[in-house]
Amino acid sequence: MIAAPFELVIGIETHVELATRSKMFCGCAARWFGAPPNTLVCPVCLGLPGALPVPNRRAIDLAITAGLALHCRTPEHTKFDRKNYLYPDLPKGYQISQFDLPLSIDGWLDIPAGGGAGAGAGASPGGGLAARSVKRVGIRRAHLEEDTGRSFHADGATLIDFNRSGVPLLEIVSEPDMSSVAEALAYLEALREHVVTAGVSEFRLEEGAGRFDVNVSIRFTEAGQVRWPPQSEIKNLNSYRALEDAVAYESERLWQDWRSGGELRTRTGKITVGWSPERGRTFLQRQKEEVDDYRYFPEPDLVSLSPARETVERLRAGLPEMPSDRRARFVSRYGLSDYDARVLVADREVADFFEEAVGSDAATASPPGSGPPGGFAKSVSNWVTGEVLRRLKESGVAIEDVRIRPAQLGALVALVTSGEISGTAAKAVFAEVWETGRDPADIVRERGLAQLSDEATIAAAVDEVIAANAKAVADFRAGKARALDALFGQVMKRTGGKANPAVVKRVIGERLASY
Ligand code: ZN
Ligand code: MN
Repeated sequence: MIAAPFELVIGIETHVELATRSKMFCGCAARWFGAPPNTLVCPVCLGLPGALPVPNRRAIDLAITAGLALHCRTPEHTKFDRKNYLYPDLPKGYQISQFDLPLSIDGWLDIPAGGGAGAGAGASPGGGLAARSVKRVGIRRAHLEEDTGRSFHADGATLIDFNRSGVPLLEIVSEPDMSSVAEALAYLEALREHVVTAGVSEFRLEEGAGRFDVNVSIRFTEAGQVRWPPQSEIKNLNSYRALEDAVAYESERLWQDWRSGGELRTRTGKITVGWSPERGRTFLQRQKEEVDDYRYFPEPDLVSLSPARETVERLRAGLPEMPSDRRARFVSRYGLSDYDARVLVADREVADFFEEAVGSDAATASPPGSGPPGGFAKSVSNWVTGEVLRRLKESGVAIEDVRIRPAQLGALVALVTSGEISGTAAKAVFAEVWETGRDPADIVRERGLAQLSDEATIAAAVDEVIAANAKAVADFRAGKARALDALFGQVMKRTGGKANPAVVKRVIGERLASY
């Protein structure tokens, strides 16, 4: 790909429905997806005259929680405002939103600079050793508003379903800090991860329960001068694919327009465009639309809101650890690679399983010096990302429902790291624990899988083998390194295959050196 002659400047306004049972200002059910048209409605969400809104406390809590998860501050005072505009899916002629005093301000999200690895599954291995550079994307604000109805255009008519009307909607506004499509996608992925983990929204873009407006502009140097003409706001995108295609199209269009001396050279304000996936192009919706056009004013039917500090702190305390923080902790505390941390944290239950296995009693019983620092956790990680995930995938079972308990995996790994069983035996033991949920130690005892690590016993076997294989010893002394393999094989055979291979190799080496 040839480098573009301009730099992209991207900011995103994301709308996500909050996971409440009822709507924002009435008691109608908020889970509208799949419901027959206009069955989840009442005078309030239909905007009938005289109907009065009553705020949904749960929605306000979720909105504050979302802000906290996005590292925002919750101002002392906030309020609702009317945003006036006319559209068939907005029965009141205004949307209740928040204008100058939003619920959350001044947050941020970290993404990998240049975009790249989002979810664990898609990440590429090997990026773990060098610390990836991180880019911080500012979050200007997150405010609470209500969703609109949905329009369906068919046969020259427009049908409207008001089931979605009045569902609580959180609008999260980023700073224009992203400079590529990859970064925009990484931001949305980080955003999705945070709001889903915080339990505030399911981020169901595919159901129309979330969408984003993308502000895109191009910045470049021309005749020694930095040029940054006004942006285009691409409205109502509802998939990552649409964002990718629309931003690529619109930025190239802006560039070509500038180069050919088009309207961009003289325009001073932004334009609003739509995206047609069918035609693969944007189309002009509105020109010179400014915030004044909405004639915002405080919603007279609602009192202003001052979230109690205790409420904010309670919500903060209830936040689970965010995946990005957890990944960083897995790398620093357990010595895992960035890749492994991503794979584990991609599923919260899998990550919990891993941590429980590492923290199990077996872990502390693991003898010191059985590996490098973090060696035990690294081994547990290898088992989880390898055998466990493979078997989960094959069986289609969730990790909460498997027979093997985290402590049992920890115990199994401890048996390997302490040399009590071989790696080969461990695989067999694991298979049986997986099937039966029995303790590894019992299985090892019953099946006689314990490895022989006793040094005196192994040394005796080595001495016998050396005494009985004078030719191999002579070969070795004559420089044939492979003679060592023959001796090793003999010792393993004499011990019934149970000797700890590492100890056998070391003792043979010691004996031959002293000959
Ligand atoms: Zn209603
Ligand atoms: Mn909005």
